[in-house]
Amino acid sequence: ALPTIYTVTPTYTRLVQKAELTRLSQTLLHVPSLHWVVVEDSPVKTSLVSELLKRSGLRYTHLCTQTPKDFKLQEGDPNWLKPRGVEQRNLALQWLRENRGPSDEGVVYFADDDNTYSLRLFEEMRFTKRVSVWPVGLVGGVRFERPLVERGQVTGFYTAWKPNRPFPMDMAGFAVSLPLLLANPAARFHLSAQRGNLESSLLQALVSIEELEPRASNCTKVLVWHTRTEKPKMKQEDALLLKGLGSDPSVEV
Ligand code: UDP
Ligand code: MN
Repeated sequence: ALPTIYTVTPTYTRLVQKAELTRLSQTLLHVPSLHWVVVEDSPVKTSLVSELLKRSGLRYTHLCTQTPKDFKLQEGDPNWLKPRGVEQRNLALQWLRENRGPSDEGVVYFADDDNTYSLRLFEEMRFTKRVSVWPVGLVGGVRFERPLVERGQVTGFYTAWKPNRPFPMDMAGFAVSLPLLLANPAARFHLSAQRGNLESSLLQALVSIEELEPRASNCTKVLVWHTRTEKPKMKQEDALLLKGLGSDPSVEV
């Protein structure tokens, strides 16, 4: 049987959430042997996400944990101020450690709900021994970031932003083998990691740069894009609401 791709997605309630999760779920439907671990940044599992998962046709696990208030972005905060999705990804790691064992073959990929994923990416990562890596498009203020590869080995990184980070890579640019995560039970993301060092906080506990496994034709192909969705403007909705004429709240968007 094919190794399972455990795709871990932190997600939170906002106007575009259902649209994001619909698009991502329909991408994942095309990937064989995939298990979607969806972790809501919320004290409870919402019915919006519960129903979406039930209808999705995917194999999934639904979890929730709320980001501690001191670490949560507040309305109006610039989005880079605090790390996002940290406790959610850690809960997924905990679930895997509690529910999977040494005989389970698989790979773990942290897939944010707003990125864009080529189906080819999933086959690149499926047979990962330790940690596999590839370029990410539209990130870090450049067209793409990528690991640099010489003779099949990662020797450095092409990145403009904070290049001295231990692993200057975006979350979307790597996958970790499940056995490696199970063999390193303390490896996790650190909420207190310096800005930009979240990925490093996990990876430093798992591999060295020489051990990284380059994918996507020696990291020359972009198969995932760090797209971000514009926040929809609700100018008319707000105006109508004041007159008691807001849209029907029983319709889920
Ligand atoms: N996220 C979350 N709680 C938050 C903000 C974000 O769970 O308060 C999730 C979000 O749904 C996404 C991931 O964390 O799957 C990364 O967030 P975002 O895409 O906003 O970050 P960026 O693209 O800026 O790295
Ligand atoms: Mn994002």
